[in-house]
Amino acid sequence: MNIITELEKLNVGTIIKNADMKKFTTYKAGGHALCIVSPYNETNLIKLMRFINENSIKYKVIGNCSNLIFSDELYDGILIKLDEFDTLYIKNNIVTVGAGYSLMKLALKVSHMGLSGLEFAAGIPGTIGGSVFMNAGAYNSDMGYIVKKVKVLTPELKIITLYNHDLDFHYRTSFLQKNPAYICLEATLELIPGDEKEIMEIIKDRRERRIKSQPLEYPSAGSVFRNPKDNYAGKLIEEIGYKGKRIGDAAVSEKHANFVINLGNAKGNDIKKLILDIKKKVKEEKGIELKIEQEFVE
Ligand SMILES: Cc1cc2nc3c(=O)[nH]c(=O)nc-3n(C[C@H](O)[C@H](O)[C@H](O)COP(=O)(O)OP(=O)(O)OC[C@H]3O[C@@H](n4cnc5c(N)ncnc54)[C@H](O)[C@@H]3O)c2cc1C
Repeated sequence: MNIITELEKLNVGTIIKNADMKKFTTYKAGGHALCIVSPYNETNLIKLMRFINENSIKYKVIGNCSNLIFSDELYDGILIKLDEFDTLYIKNNIVTVGAGYSLMKLALKVSHMGLSGLEFAAGIPGTIGGSVFMNAGAYNSDMGYIVKKVKVLTPELKIITLYNHDLDFHYRTSFLQKNPAYICLEATLELIPGDEKEIMEIIKDRRERRIKSQPLEYPSAGSVFRNPKDNYAGKLIEEIGYKGKRIGDAAVSEKHANFVINLGNAKGNDIKKLILDIKKKVKEEKGIELKIEQEFVE
């Protein structure tokens, strides 16, 4: 069966064939994918999932690929991108937003409306779906504090609502991460009415802190490792002397050791090799097992 021909017949969304993942990942690295499909709506997503399940086709839902490391080999399956799921309703302090909506864009929009709670997200380049999945967070806050409920597509292709307590949010993890066959379609957030000027001051202050402490001038996917209890991954990596350590064009940032950056032409496989090497070395020298926050896609 030719997957692309069948997908064209199915007509469930726009198709990017032979997608160069360098153009879609914040690492600007990785090989090609057979295709990226952006379903037009929920009905078409369900149709697409039925086709995928019936034919046992490899697939993955992607957001902004700001936490993903693609290998350099062909991703021989369908990447599903929920770009069309970008609705936004705001009623008082309750925000209902599509999974494909940009978290950064939303954070700035609601902050300008004087709604507090998403200040932490103004520097996180993910989508709503990816950020619920990751329980993205910063500055002692995360999605778990503000998500009231999410609409998901279950593995049985039913649309249901999961509430905050079902979503099992903990530091950089969630129910969705443990159950990747669920697809987040929409999230409802509860924010707190506040003062626009004060909220924007916090965002400005944090942006300045990020610019000072993080290598935002290079492609990356943010922090590579979760911070171990009562410690910092960056500090441990610095202590093993790995600042500046390189494999090809993948390098440990000199500015922040928990960032691996692409110096120009980094291969996805080099980024992976470097991350695994850091993990091994920290275990050998410090006896600490670092947990990788980013995800390898092969
Ligand atoms: C410069 C920079 C700074 C960053 N700073 C932070 C930070 O401060 N805090 C932080 O937590 N993260 C940070 N990140 C990492 C990243 O932005 C977050 O993890 C983000 O939430 C990932 O969202 P995404 O849409 O890019 O998801 P992707 O990277 O595309 O996907 C991540 C995972 O989510 C799954 N997924 C995506 N969408 C859906 C969906 N709709 N339903 C089900 N599963 C889905 C994917 O299958 C994948 O497993 C940073 C990244 C960069 C590049």
